[in-house]
Amino acid sequence: MPDNVQGPGTDRAALSADCANCFGLCCVALTLTRSADFAVDKDAGKPCRNLQEDFRCGIHTELRTRGFPGCTVYDCFGAGQKVSGETFRGQDWRSAPRTAQQMFQVFPVMRQLHELLWYLTEALSLEAARSLHHEIRRALDETERLTHLPADAFRELDVAGHRDVVAELLRRAGALVRATAPRKKKRDHRGADLIGARLRGADLRGADLRGAYLIAADLTGADLRLADLIGADFRDADLSGADLTTSLFLTQSQLNAAGGDASTKLPPSLGRPTHWTR
Ligand code: SF4
Repeated sequence: MPDNVQGPGTDRAALSADCANCFGLCCVALTLTRSADFAVDKDAGKPCRNLQEDFRCGIHTELRTRGFPGCTVYDCFGAGQKVSGETFRGQDWRSAPRTAQQMFQVFPVMRQLHELLWYLTEALSLEAARSLHHEIRRALDETERLTHLPADAFRELDVAGHRDVVAELLRRAGALVRATAPRKKKRDHRGADLIGARLRGADLRGADLRGAYLIAADLTGADLRLADLIGADFRDADLSGADLTTSLFLTQSQLNAAGGDASTKLPPSLGRPTHWTR
């Protein structure tokens, strides 16, 4: 994965899920509700019925056809292997039931921290946000430090407060980058309800689409370069032919939730979802 950022806490490869070195934490720790994304109800702390003894998914290659497409979208940003291998030193929840609940509580917090690491690492690579790089580096180092805390310390962690501080920093970094885009009209769509919107071929360069609801939106051929897409909901949106090459804060999870095709232009750090078969 290309990355022009150096130093501790900035390796984006370490922010990718490594299921082979995880105790299937996303398949146990989380509450999952029966829906179009997940075929059954499951309580937090209960293993999914499809989770095998070796912590692998028994229907991994059939998730979409068996009613579990949400599992193909979920991304732990590498939190699973960190909790399994480092925080709990390789002791799995089956063989150590006494610490299992604690492990399940640490995992979602670690996942939030790793997601912040993903965004901060990207922010540190943005040339237009260079004036903020010192602050971003500090936030990155602090976030990285938190991920190495012992399990007990996670209970006291104000992750929401930390997230707020980082979110504001990312907003400022995004604004600096968006300001470099050609500006023809108002581009503030933060949190906007754009469900099913017809945005075919739209010029959305430099748009603020943070947290926008783009569910099932038609974005075929749209130009989303330099647009801030943090937290935007792309479920079932059509990104065929869209240009996302310099979109900001886009994640693999967002792409996996959307539709697209071979002509969708992606940022170099993200892969083309396998279900984009057209
Ligand atoms: S269906 Fe597979 S990937 Fe999804 S939660 Fe269950 S075991 Fe995990």
